[in-house]
Amino acid sequence: MDPRVPVHDLLIIGGGFGACSALAWLARLAPKAMRVAVMIGSRTPADGADNFYGCGLAYGAQDPTHLLNSAHWNMGLLLDEPDGFTHWLSAQSPTKKLSDFVPRAEYGAFLQSKWHENLKLLTLKGVEVHVIQQSAISILELTDRFVTIVDDAGTNHSCAAVLVCMGPTLISETGLRHEKLISPIWPHGLQCLKGACGQVVIIGTGLSGIDAAISALAEPEVTKLTMISRDGRLPLAHDAAARERLDVQFKGCPLEVLKTIRTAASRVPWQAVMNALRDQSNIIWHDWTTIERRLALRHLSGMWTAHRNRLPPDVLRQVETAIDHGRLEIIKSFTRLHFDNDGHVCVQLIGSGGIIKPDWVVDARGFARINMNMNSFFGQALRDGHFNTSGLGYGIAGDKSHRVTPLGLAPIHVVGAARIGDLIETTGAPEVRTQVHQSLEALLKPNHPVKVSRHMNCQENGSSAID
Ligand SMILES: Cc1cc2nc3c(=O)[nH]c(=O)nc-3n(C[C@H](O)[C@H](O)[C@H](O)COP(=O)(O)OP(=O)(O)OC[C@H]3O[C@@H](n4cnc5c(N)ncnc54)[C@H](O)[C@@H]3O)c2cc1C
Repeated sequence: MDPRVPVHDLLIIGGGFGACSALAWLARLAPKAMRVAVMIGSRTPADGADNFYGCGLAYGAQDPTHLLNSAHWNMGLLLDEPDGFTHWLSAQSPTKKLSDFVPRAEYGAFLQSKWHENLKLLTLKGVEVHVIQQSAISILELTDRFVTIVDDAGTNHSCAAVLVCMGPTLISETGLRHEKLISPIWPHGLQCLKGACGQVVIIGTGLSGIDAAISALAEPEVTKLTMISRDGRLPLAHDAAARERLDVQFKGCPLEVLKTIRTAASRVPWQAVMNALRDQSNIIWHDWTTIERRLALRHLSGMWTAHRNRLPPDVLRQVETAIDHGRLEIIKSFTRLHFDNDGHVCVQLIGSGGIIKPDWVVDARGFARINMNMNSFFGQALRDGHFNTSGLGYGIAGDKSHRVTPLGLAPIHVVGAARIGDLIETTGAPEVRTQVHQSLEALLKPNHPVKVSRHMNCQENGSSAID
């Protein structure tokens, strides 16, 4: 086999929501005889079951107390079918009244079913699909005609184009390992809290921290729960009444945008204003200079995070009840973790000098910013000069179609959390779905860079055909 001839027309790297959305798009629009490969990562599901195709970091765990943070009507796989999940849910139980925020496990079931359905549709269409259960490690070669990706088994995969949807990278407390320290929290870390007792400390008060709190509060032997973050802010709640689209334009420097937000929020629910802002946020972000972006991050990011990352109202009520009953406290502090002489994990509160010695610590600090020091596919691609970071020094830089390689070289598109910094709003399912759509449209438009070969029928080592 000539290594310079791409074996795949398109390689999708990732086996979560983004990849699932891409398969749904391709099932509709891929040309016949296109050769698609999906590299889903080498992680196997914790319980050995088939519960991870399409589920990624977020939707594979089966804890029914963890709800989607977005209403079902905007969680479809396709840009023009944002309510695709709602239709699926209604078809599962036609007589059941749907609550706005359903368990993430149900969303995982939707993604799995769509994953398999779309693979079948693609095969029926004559599209060749290979699922590769390995992780991408690096880019071996990038030329004008092909990209060669190396996986963790050492196999090379040459392809005409790549769509990378590897999802979020969790911030990790380097080097610390302990049976009572839950890190990483996703996809299955919180299962360790089953049967926990005593005091639980959660580092982080964002959405992941709240999930950890809900898990801990469900354990009757957990006597005290402490959540700590540097701003001590909890996310606010959704308002189902704020579903209407708001016609307001946000323009100008960060202060002007803030003024527009305040004016609009004096007239309508602030949640509706944030929804409108979310839709325009990447355009505003792109118009700002690097200095304006830094200023906005320094002064507004706490406010943005609390208002943008919202909770189902019932979940916030559970948390507030636990605070009222004295079972949960929130502390505003920077923290550092260390082990004491007896080997316990200790949480040091920087500044106050306080030290907590809890029974369990959960690291729920959210998503890392991608940079070239990371020991990962992205870190390697940045060090090798294949990708660039945004002007902020982190986040993979791309164009409007999320292409991260220059014209003249084979196209690689990167969507989702790896773009944080270059984009401000890029982790939620609606944003990833839009980015996948824009990427595939660019790759497969007339005179598209992906030249579909009808003559090759190669099968690489480590990949298996789907029938
Ligand atoms: C706990 C949690 C809850 C969330 N809840 C919501 C919500 O309610 N609503 C919402 O809109 N968003 C939510 N999100 C955001 C979520 O990230 C997106 O909804 C969506 O899953 C992102 O899709 P993705 O494909 O980018 O990442 P993922 O769905 O995480 O998929 C990434 C995939 O890439 C694979 N992968 C990683 N590295 C490699 C590699 N080197 N090689 C090959 N494969 C690799 C992983 O195994 C995984 O299959 C949540 C996130 C988390 C963590």
